[in-house]
Amino acid sequence: MTKKLIITVRVNEYMSRDINKNVPFTPEEIAETAAECRAAGASIIHFHARTPDGGKCHEPEVYAEIVAKIREKTDILIDSTLGQITVNEDENRLAHIRLMGQKSNTRPDFAAVDTGSSNIDAYDPVQKKFLTTNKIYKNSTETCLFLAKGMTDAGVKPHLSVWAVPFVRMVDAFLDMGAVKEPAYVQCVLAEGGIVGAHPCTTRGLEALIDFMPPQRRIEWTVACKEGNLFNVAATALERMGHLAPGIGDYPYPEIGCPTNAELVRRFAELGRAVGREPATTDEARTMLGIPAYG
Ligand code: ZN
Repeated sequence: MTKKLIITVRVNEYMSRDINKNVPFTPEEIAETAAECRAAGASIIHFHARTPDGGKCHEPEVYAEIVAKIREKTDILIDSTLGQITVNEDENRLAHIRLMGQKSNTRPDFAAVDTGSSNIDAYDPVQKKFLTTNKIYKNSTETCLFLAKGMTDAGVKPHLSVWAVPFVRMVDAFLDMGAVKEPAYVQCVLAEGGIVGAHPCTTRGLEALIDFMPPQRRIEWTVACKEGNLFNVAATALERMGHLAPGIGDYPYPEIGCPTNAELVRRFAELGRAVGREPATTDEARTMLGIPAYG
């Protein structure tokens, strides 16, 4: 039997509505999007809390409200951000996870640990210069281990994001020492839009990461692309038995008319079905990723 396809929808990140007006900001909009995407074939939602006008929000209470509102509407699995470079201190990065973990209806199933550091300044080849020169997405080994333990203690499974081959080697080390339990959920993060601190959104960019996945480990991997079109690597991911993590939070998809997240999920679900990779139900995704039943 061919492996089912887990679609994780990355609904908002810190994307503006300048190009695609469908980016959800409020807890209500995120929960509504979650239900629509579940119906379209997604089994996991990844979200960032935002202010009503689209700014960055890191209030733990807002995170808890979003999860509770999603749980009221749908059985989709929930993957919270840590806020990327928004929040600096390790304890602060975990504050919302600790609060959300206190109750089952506010507890996400996953949160992200990026298993290394990267310079995420964007290069503009027209102007021949970097738009910023000091954006370091800093994740020391100590930080990663602290976050993984804090999440595990809160009943939240770390999903491991990898931006380059050394990040994949770090995943192997974390699994070897038992800091993260198998099956691991690993997200390959590709990047376009001038961000040269990750692999490009090409077949070779993706294959360089998956070729280094340790074969002796139980890993389910997925792929996302910051600032770029994930359709470029969808066929490779499907063929190599990976999963897909599209979303208008990463890229507005003007090529297909700036769709909603649900419309985008439907497109990727169709690609999966066309090669025998039926979208996983939430129960199937839980089993594949080692997530206990909700409640
Ligand atoms: Zn995110």
